[in-house]
Amino acid sequence: MMNGGYEDENEGNNSDNDVEPILTIEPWMLQGLEGPDDDDIFAKKIQRVALDGEEHIYFNSADASNILGVPLTMRNIDDKLIWPHTKHNHFSVKTAYHFITVQDSVSGVTTSSTPAFWQKIWRLKLPQHIKNFFWRLCHGILPTRDNLVRRGLSVITDCPRCFTSQESICHIMLGCSWAQMIWLISPLGYFPPLSSDAAFFDWLVDRIMCDSPDVVIWIALICWTIWTGRNALIFQDKMYSPQESVLKAQSLFMEIQDSSTSPGCTQSHSLRIPRSREAYRWQCPSRHHYKMNTDVAKISDVEWSIGVVIRSDQGHLFMTGIKTILALDEVAVAEALGIRWGLQIAQQCHVSKLKVETDCEVVVNSFNAASATDLSLVSDIMADCRSIGAELESFSLRHIYRESNHVAHFVAKQLYHFAPCIWFDAFPISVLNLVNSDVLT
Ligand SMILES: [Zn+2]
Repeated sequence: MMNGGYEDENEGNNSDNDVEPILTIEPWMLQGLEGPDDDDIFAKKIQRVALDGEEHIYFNSADASNILGVPLTMRNIDDKLIWPHTKHNHFSVKTAYHFITVQDSVSGVTTSSTPAFWQKIWRLKLPQHIKNFFWRLCHGILPTRDNLVRRGLSVITDCPRCFTSQESICHIMLGCSWAQMIWLISPLGYFPPLSSDAAFFDWLVDRIMCDSPDVVIWIALICWTIWTGRNALIFQDKMYSPQESVLKAQSLFMEIQDSSTSPGCTQSHSLRIPRSREAYRWQCPSRHHYKMNTDVAKISDVEWSIGVVIRSDQGHLFMTGIKTILALDEVAVAEALGIRWGLQIAQQCHVSKLKVETDCEVVVNSFNAASATDLSLVSDIMADCRSIGAELESFSLRHIYRESNHVAHFVAKQLYHFAPCIWFDAFPISVLNLVNSDVLT
């Protein structure tokens, strides 16, 4: 069944282990399957064989996780060949060349170092030197004091501003109270409470892949202002206040906006000053409609949690649910699966008028721009969502800012240890409090 066999006890001393195992379909896998709705049965058979039965020699746990982590579409569509190194999974010689020649030796963002991710950075409407900075930040190669020590230099590692912590990227950007004040008084108005570089890079990946370009530009400008403020302190002994730093970022933003809308500019995309307070708030759906919010959180190298929250037109909690999924390395795929799972629950509950909100712009764009040439997993899953949505009396999907999606985010991030679980009553008190705060503010 597997090319070269698979025996854990021989791992490391059997040259066959260097051969990638190839899964072929065996007759026992297909017994009892009758149609596309049997995907779950197929997955369960694989799971049973992978994890329980005598046949466990076919898969080690990593292979079993990878198999189970492949999302299956609900529709009966033909298999297709895809190229994983482009956004829409079409083969291109350029990306093949890139794949062969580029060795990934970075210590920063690695989980999403796909062309789509880096293209998003290079396509931002930012001055080239800030784009370069942002690229180096995402690679984790800024010359922070802890990075310099890692490279063998003998320097003091304390943060030159607060002296309370080692100067790491996460500390400079988020941990230092000076930086925190900049985030808070900036138009973004918040900072994520993260304490490690790895968590900071994960957060950056999420934001770059899911937020609108103007929000990502603001994140880049804030990071740039913090970094140049740090350099001014170290090399020129200049101390800029958080207010001065935000004004500097604001003026850069205005310059970028002017240049992108000036005559002769070929780009039609115009940057907006981030939103009024209203844009951060969750809004009740129109009368007789329900609103569903979904979000995901990465909880380990191979696991994501999905949070779903459905509320009535009065803002009352109707249902909330949490489940975990395996081995996906793309946040947009996990977000798309979250929406599909929520829709399946809504359908089973006979919800007929539903508005869906997500803070992942990629899935909304995929939903709105259905394309036969898009071979990506996200496109397949959103096609499932369209087909469920078409069966409802009223259905819409739209992108919202993360702040107004905070209840679903909380469920995904904080309640995963309950997974899988769906509540229709006796809701967790923490969720009820957040829901009430949305209605009251
Ligand atoms: Zn500090």
